[in-house]
Amino acid sequence: MERAYKMYDFLIIGAGLYGAVCARELTDAGKKVLVIDKRSHIAGNVYTEKIEGINVHKYGAHIFHTNNKKVWDYVQRFATFNRFTNSPVANYKGELYSLPFNMYTFNKMWGVVTPEEAAAKIEEQRREAEITEPKNLEEQAISLVGTDIYEKLIKGYTQKQWGRPCDQLPSFIIKRLPVRLTFDNNYFNALYQGIPIGGYTKMVENMLSGIEVRTGVDFFEHKEELIADAKSVIYTGPIDAYFNYSLGNLEYRSVRFENEILDKPNFQGNAAVNYTDAETPWTRIIEHKWFEFGKDEDGNDLPKTVISREYSSEWKPGDEPYYPVNDEKNSKLYADYKALAEKENDVIFGGRLGEYKYYDMDQVIAVALEISVSLK
Ligand code: UDP
Repeated sequence: MERAYKMYDFLIIGAGLYGAVCARELTDAGKKVLVIDKRSHIAGNVYTEKIEGINVHKYGAHIFHTNNKKVWDYVQRFATFNRFTNSPVANYKGELYSLPFNMYTFNKMWGVVTPEEAAAKIEEQRREAEITEPKNLEEQAISLVGTDIYEKLIKGYTQKQWGRPCDQLPSFIIKRLPVRLTFDNNYFNALYQGIPIGGYTKMVENMLSGIEVRTGVDFFEHKEELIADAKSVIYTGPIDAYFNYSLGNLEYRSVRFENEILDKPNFQGNAAVNYTDAETPWTRIIEHKWFEFGKDEDGNDLPKTVISREYSSEWKPGDEPYYPVNDEKNSKLYADYKALAEKENDVIFGGRLGEYKYYDMDQVIAVALEISVSLK
């Protein structure tokens, strides 16, 4: 069904960060854009919803952090960021440790006081493990921080999160975790960090301001009409879904959230507490109010609190896909889908699901900005 006159220059499928940034940039370049999303709301997985005066991160905690000045300046146009710094706490069978791994962690684990002592302890454990070239996450972790920290703070958590033993996971996953010989509890090695005041939904709403957005629209149900009306398509959904899983399913990890409103002001005293043992069924508990220092927008203390327990699970059709599983098998399958994608005329595949890539928010924005420049 080819139409001579096309209503839109771009049909953007998915109103998450990738879609919203492309929509903004292309609209500002004079293009006519339609954004659709199958959910009833915008903002994809960064969506926040206000409950008891608290911005609840409905699809998992999102902490904006970046070293990319251009991206940081860009997001400032759509939100003011607070000074939140991510410092999760690890709970291993009731023992509490600082994250990321730093001098507080090493002191609690081994009683060491100086950076030299900590380095010597890690080196000793690394030598005992006899790992020269780490081949998987387990070996990578042990050679970074030694066996004690691996056993108490990494092994159980990682196996719960990925549903696979650590020796069957790629080591790059753990490279996200910094290791420091300083007393610095800031989880990220980023120049810029914070949470948009008023929530991520508001930020994405500002990005999409003045742009036609239709929520609750499933692309695959209306594919013919939608495509007939647009010159080009930007698709941010799962790449395998686009091709109707014709080469088989890519694997994802999914997350189930159990949200609870508690009639008390403080449950755990921190935004994130990771449960790093293998027995506790959830991976972590998020207490959302601490992303905004326990206050509402007028600076008043909030009497209640909202917590989310996160349960990691294998994705099956019908679940929300969250994390791509970039192991060898899936990377190969993705490469095959990518080859199909390259043959699709006038369709761009982007974002965490479209590119099957473990992107952070700032990386998604950076690639969306880049692609938009090439499309203007
Ligand atoms: N990780 C861990 N223990 C922790 C936190 C993280 O072993 O307490 C490992 C785990 O393998 C995880 C990876 O570090 O998959 C990256 O964790 P991060 O919290 O950065 O991932 P996110 O879920 O926030 O994207």
